[in-house]
Formats: sequence, C-alpha cells, structure tokens
Amino acid sequence: MKMPPALIACGYRYFAPLRLRLLTFTHHRLLPPSLAAPSAAALSPCGLSSLLFCVCLQRFWTGSGINRNKGMVENLQRYGVISSKKVAEVMETIDRALFVPAGTPAYEDSPMQIGYNATISAPHMHAACLQLLEENLQPGMHVLDVGSGTGYLTACFAIMVGPEGRAVGVEHIPELVTGAIKNIEKSAAAPLLKDGSLSLHVGDGRLGWPEFAPYDAIHVGAAASEIPQPLIDQLKPGGRMVIPVGNIFQDLKVVEKKLDGSLSVRSETSVRYVPLTSKDAQLRGY
Ligand code: SAH
Repeated sequence: MKMPPALIACGYRYFAPLRLRLLTFTHHRLLPPSLAAPSAAALSPCGLSSLLFCVCLQRFWTGSGINRNKGMVENLQRYGVISSKKVAEVMETIDRALFVPAGTPAYEDSPMQIGYNATISAPHMHAACLQLLEENLQPGMHVLDVGSGTGYLTACFAIMVGPEGRAVGVEHIPELVTGAIKNIEKSAAAPLLKDGSLSLHVGDGRLGWPEFAPYDAIHVGAAASEIPQPLIDQLKPGGRMVIPVGNIFQDLKVVEKKLDGSLSVRSETSVRYVPLTSKDAQLRGY
C-alpha cells in the first residue's frame, strides 16, 4: 500500500524494546530528555504509544509560537544545538521562511513536506550538520550538498564558503531544483547564485558531482544503505562527509578522509531520513 508522504516518516513502527533506539522521523534525531523542550518532555510518559513517544521526542519545541527566524536560532542556541557563533550567524542570514511551502510554520522545529515525497529537514538537523561540517566550510572551500531539496542548506553552505568557494547542490527531482533556485533568489545567498559560486544541478546525487570535486565537505540529506563510493572518491584528503546511513535504523555518520587517503567513520547520532534512492522509487512512494 502506498503511504501518503506524511506517514512515510512515522510509518516505521518502533515497539517498546526498541524505544531507546527510537528515532525522530525524517531528518530528526533523538533528543536527550534533558534537552527536549520542557512541554514535550513533560508530555512524554513511557506508557504512550511508540508513535506518540516519537512525536514527543523529535522536536526541541513545537507549535508556531516562534515567528521570527532569529527566534528560531535563539531557541537552537538555548537548547544547546547551536554552540557556534558562525553557524548562528549563517542561520540568521538565511531566512528559513523563504524555503518552506507557503502556509507552513517556518520556524517550528520540525521537518515539512515539500512535495515529491521529500521534506525540508528540521532546523535542529540543519544546525547539527552545519556544525559538524563547520571546519570544512571555511571561506574558499568546496562543498557538495547531495539531495539539496529546497536549497536551504546549500544556501547556508554557500554563505559559509563565500564567493571564493563553491557550494554545489545535486537533487534528482527537477521541479525541486527549479523551486530551490527561486527560493535562493529571494535569499541572502542570491548574489552567490548569480556569480556562480553557488550552483544547483539535476542529477543522481549517489554519483556526486565530479565537476567541482574534490570537496572539503560533503553533506548528504537522504539516507544511504551504504556510503556511495563516488562520494568517497570526491572527498578531498582532509575532507569531511556527513551522511545518514541505514534503512529502518539509521545513524548519522561522520566520514573523515585523512591526508594519506584512509578513512575514519564514526556515528554521531541516530536519525531518520528519507532514502537516498532512485527518482522512480521516490515518486512511487519508496
Ligand atoms: N536537505 C534538503 C532536502 C532533504 S530531503 C532540505 O532540507 O531541504 C532529501 C532530498 O534528497 C529530497 O529532496 C530527495 O528528492 C533527494 N534525493 C533522494 N535521493 C536522491 C538521489 N539519488 N539523488 C539526488 N537527490 C536525491
């Protein structure tokens, strides 16, 4: 049975013995209870169904009470998600409201459906990935964003690497690429799109984007069953990749390529992303 996109995220059932691995759905991570928004923590007794438990833990805050981009960033700082001044500045510069579908609560800590069975990740995931990659997003560096969707994170990357750098987004749904370009044109990253240091391409992100390789940083916004070799090949020695890996249970992996070309891989946290897959499979509903 084909599930509507809203259910894809929560469609996987997590039963009681697995609760400790219970992850937030699409583009979320499991929050330590101490960091969960007070209202969410208070409302999440163990007896609730897995689904509700999931919903309670997946956000740092809920509701549409935050109505400014700055307020969203301040909340991410308050809950300890953002500790980097640079990441806070960049997320303040790129207004998330320009990237979410009209009428959706832009500053809520939640993923939003963007059509084509895709989502824009939750703000806390965007912040976490920016921080994990920060050292490899210095001015002049090259960054690849696989599964660029709305273009939000590609725009943030472009601001970080600046006009001397290269921020490259690859997305396999052409309509999303067109939409992302329109979003970015309204944002503070518009000049970078115009001068070509930010570019968005239609393609299968599992193949990377060799034209601007090697990359100092690679971000993958959809979960791979294993790390695609072309992405490893296109990572610069000294470079870092952040990629969700897994199927039902996924870990956000941090892959580092050492100067001698060898790799180190560690798991940062448990997450739930939509799959990195073929366009046909995605449009069929996976
Ligand atoms: N990071 C983006 C989107 C995340 S959703 C944002 O926050 O806006 C994951 C995205 O990966 C979707 O847009 C989906 O269409 C895309 N995707 C999935 N498999 C892909 C593939 N093989 N190649 C390119 N893009 C892919």
